Parts: sequence; C-alpha cells; structure tokens
Amino acid sequence: MAGGGATRRALVTGITGQDGSFLAELLLERGYEVIGMVRGPAAEPLGSSEHLRGRLRLVPGDLLDPDSLSAAVAGAQADELYHLAAPSFVPESWRRPARTLAAIAGSTASLLEAVREHSGHTRVFVAGSGAMFGAAPESPQREDTPCRPETPYASAKLAAHQLVGQLRANDDLFACSGILYNHESERRPESFVTRKVTRAAAAIKLGQADHVVLGDLGATRDWSFAGDMMLAAWLMLQRDEAEDYILASGAGHTVAEFVERAFAYLGLRAEDHVRVEAGLRRAPEPTPRVGDPSRARDRLKWRPTVSFEQLIERMVDADLRALELSSAER
Ligand code: NDP
Repeated sequence: MAGGGATRRALVTGITGQDGSFLAELLLERGYEVIGMVRGPAAEPLGSSEHLRGRLRLVPGDLLDPDSLSAAVAGAQADELYHLAAPSFVPESWRRPARTLAAIAGSTASLLEAVREHSGHTRVFVAGSGAMFGAAPESPQREDTPCRPETPYASAKLAAHQLVGQLRANDDLFACSGILYNHESERRPESFVTRKVTRAAAAIKLGQADHVVLGDLGATRDWSFAGDMMLAAWLMLQRDEAEDYILASGAGHTVAEFVERAFAYLGLRAEDHVRVEAGLRRAPEPTPRVGDPSRARDRLKWRPTVSFEQLIERMVDADLRALELSSAER
C-alpha cells in the first residue's frame, strides 16, 4: 500500500454494477483515487455509478479479453484491485456455460497473472459466491465446507476461488476471495427476485399494478445489504494477512418471508397479490444456502449496519419514490 499519506489508488472491475457503485462511494469517501474498468465506450451510461462519473477515472477492459485486463492492471498500478465484474445472473450461465467460465474464472486468472507480472504490490479482492457450495454437506457453510457446485456459474466461481488460493500460496500474492452470499439494494436489477418483489409491492400500493407472478417461494437465502458487503471487501484488504472470508448475515430467510415483509410494510396482504407459477419453480435445493460469517466478525470486526427487515424497507421505499417520481413526470 502507498504510505506516508499518499493518495491510495483502487482499480475496480464491475464499476457499473450494484456492488461497484457502493464500493466506489466507499473508496471515494476514504480519499482513494478510483479507476473503474468499463467494457463499453467511456461515454456510455455508467449504470449504478453514473452519479459518480466526474469523480472516477475510466479504463477499458472486457472480462473475455485477457490483454485488456492485463493492460488495465499494468496501467493502473493500483494499491488495491477489486474484481467485482461477472455475468452475475445465474440462470444465464446454463445458456452460456463456456462464456461464463471464461468470464469468471478466466478473468480471475488473467488479472492475478497481470498483478504478478506487472504490479506485484497490488492487493486483490475477488468476488466469490456462496453458490459455490451448492449441495454442500452442511448449513451454515464455513470457509472450509466442501463445495458441490450445481450450476455453471457456481463452478466458475469455485474455480476463481481456488485460483486465488493457489496463486496466493505459489506466488506470494496478496489476494483474497470474498465468498459473498446474496446481497441486495435499490440498485439491484429487476431480473432478481428481491427487486422484482419490492418494485411490484410499491406499484400495487400506488395502484399501478394488481399482482405479481413469482416462482419458488420456498428457497432459503441469506440476504445482506450490498453496502455492508463492500465494507467487508475493503476491510479484507486492510489486514496484514490475505485470507478468504465468508461474507453473509448468518441468517436464512425464505423468498416467501421476503415477500410477506415487503407487502406487510406497505399494509398489503401478499396472498391477495402474489401468484405462484409452477413453470417458474426451480428444483428444490438440498442445502439451505446460509453462510457462517464468524471469521469476518472476529478478524475483520465486520458489523453489518442493515438488517433483513431494514433492507426490505429501504428497497420498498426507494421503489415507491421512483414510481411516484416517474408518474409525476408523465
Ligand atoms: P451486477 O450484475 O450488478 O454487476 C456486474 C458487473 O460486471 C457490471 O458492472 C457489468 O458491466 C460487469 N460485467 C459483466 N460482464 C462483463 C464483461 N464481459 N466485461 C466487463 N465487465 C463485465 O453484479 P453485482 O454488483 O450484484 O455483483 C458483483 C459481484 O459479486 C459479481 O462477481 C457477482 O457474481 C458476485 N456476487 C453477487 C451476489 C449478489 O447477491 N449480488 C452474490 C454472490 C456473488 P456492464 O454494466 O457493462 O454489464
């Protein structure tokens, strides 16, 4: 890390995504120079980070183009690299398994290689996923729980996680894998069930919709607030030792609980407005996907600031505001 009060520099892949935007805000607040990697022309909208545009330096890079990743790392000479970019919508990974593997595991290998060759002082955080545990033999999962990934996305995340551990040991890199469980915010796209639910509840409350169609209300997830997750990512790179951490709340909730809370917060009864469609159901998961965040709590002193209930309320409030604003503009 740069010492003596010099401005620290961070390179962030996935800057346009949900996590990238929260991380960029956190880093800018702490005085970092933030370099965001983008795959399209710099003039294109920056997604969730558009409001930060003037405060970010942008560099080109595509997960599927190793040379572009290497150039980004070599050019940035960053103190910290946060590798957040990924095709993050799990169902899509069934459609494009080869591309998923290349974009997640291949990009991680390329970035670590580039750090080793061109920027050895850079500390690296890689966004892993609790999905890698799949049909694990235990719940909650810990850092050493055996992995049995069940989707191409999960296999790719496991491969990336293992590469981090291998190059850390073999090449003495300061590289860490954050094993992230579900995390949400008002910046989550509506393709994810949580945001679909909060958006629909708000629309129904405002009389703009009558019902929402969902599937698989029985799946258990461990939900956190995205901003809290990015604080943990930052804390991981401030330690003396590079280690992997489960980042999770430690509590499992079903999708049905999420739905009920979102509707109840608005004084609505979920059963009056939610239709469950069999075709949208997924195969039941044998192991509840819940993480044990003890290591992060003990060693990082990480304390999430937003509870499950507060997260839902925050998302519903944001959707209400956004829908009211857009109907006022019409
Ligand atoms: P988002 O989907 O919001 O953001 C994904 C980012 O990756 C976007 O900036 C996107 O850029 C970028 N990206 C995708 N493909 C490419 C590519 N080929 N080249 C360059 N950039 C690309 O994800 P989140 O912020 O929610 O997640 C961040 C990380 O955390 C991901 O690695 C995800 O897998 C992981 N994770 C997330 C969880 C969650 O619950 N949110 C749970 C577990 C893990 P563009 O705007 O150009 O599409």
